[in-house]
Amino acid sequence: MSLDDHAEELASSLGVDKTEVKRDLENLVEYSVPVEEAKDSLRRKYGDGSSDDGTPTSKSIAEISTGDSNVTVTGTVLRAGKRSIRYQGSDHVIFEGEIADETGKISYTAWDDFGLEAGQTITAGNAGIREWEGDPELNLGESTTIQLADEELDVDYEVGGDADLVELEPGDRGIDVEVTVLEVETKTIDGRDGETDILSGILADETTRLPFTDWEPHDAITEGASLRLEDVFVREFRGAPSVNVSEFTVVTELDRPVEPTEEAPGLAVRDAIESGGLFDVELVGNVIAVRDGSGLIERCPECGRVVQNGQCRTHGAVDGVDDLRIKAILDDGTGTVTAILDDELTEEIYGGGIEAAKEHAREEMDQEAVADAIREDLVGREYRVRGSLSVDEYGANLNARSFDETDDDPADRASDLLTEVRA
Ligand SMILES: [Zn+2]
Repeated sequence: MSLDDHAEELASSLGVDKTEVKRDLENLVEYSVPVEEAKDSLRRKYGDGSSDDGTPTSKSIAEISTGDSNVTVTGTVLRAGKRSIRYQGSDHVIFEGEIADETGKISYTAWDDFGLEAGQTITAGNAGIREWEGDPELNLGESTTIQLADEELDVDYEVGGDADLVELEPGDRGIDVEVTVLEVETKTIDGRDGETDILSGILADETTRLPFTDWEPHDAITEGASLRLEDVFVREFRGAPSVNVSEFTVVTELDRPVEPTEEAPGLAVRDAIESGGLFDVELVGNVIAVRDGSGLIERCPECGRVVQNGQCRTHGAVDGVDDLRIKAILDDGTGTVTAILDDELTEEIYGGGIEAAKEHAREEMDQEAVADAIREDLVGREYRVRGSLSVDEYGANLNARSFDETDDDPADRASDLLTEVRA
């Protein structure tokens, strides 16, 4: 570090004029005062006697905690994204991403355009700290100074926004993905400026598939298109990550087709639950029980919730609409989830539709007869279930898209295993 750099760092952490600090520093060094000692004495002179008087101190990223009010930090910009938000009644463009040093990484939100780009190493002077979902986050605002540093940092993280869909987590910003559009539809929503059209659907790449929303419809987003989407952000939707495309997202057509994965990642139940939610996952386990509220059920015509004894929790006495559903508890030895099967999957397993089910219940004079029959079929058998997993205060629920009994024949399994071993 040159004397100039020391003066710069000191001036920005003290919030005072650099030329003044540099002159003082030069004087002291001329009198053979070691640089660190000279800086300490200048900190005292300019009033930074302690770290708890609100004056920022230089910290490594790992040292930053939610208890800090402001810090000076040097790091490499990993990602830089842009987003429009409505704050206190007006629209703001904010800049978001992550920066890293040798000790860790941290998210940032910038309220001014500092022109941050992935790969730059910067010193953010007087950056505010706020808490976001339990972690500290840098808040770069009016009183923050950003300076480009010439030093290169040896960071352990990938620089740039490129990511596979399977890596995405809610809260990620400034992400670039290469995907194919599996499904897309236009929806009219009641947005912050009245009725507005958005696109929603499903994206896929070689790793997995995820739902997406395009808040500012891009013409290039059509079914079957292979696209590069630069600067998307990720939110949680029904317990799983969802890709958000905005007015700032750059959409370009790729000259190569992105081959969507046919298979869902297969996980142990415990690992799937720990992930917090997955849009497309395959779990294999034994059905250990079929829960109440399965078989022939009645739903509220207003809200679709299951009604009991003709009463909806929200709408009171209603004329219930018949439906079929299964809630099966799946256990693989590492954990359990409730697999929820819709009317079509339930029909396949039950071997009949709503009319058959009603007839069955009438004959047995028992509404539970259908659930009992299903229970007898499923419990004790092993199934491979693919669907969307959500994990919340209601537990771990797997909304099934497919539900198939695993290969029952031990001889077949043994020969499959042998083939795998030989291959
Ligand atoms: Zn209702």
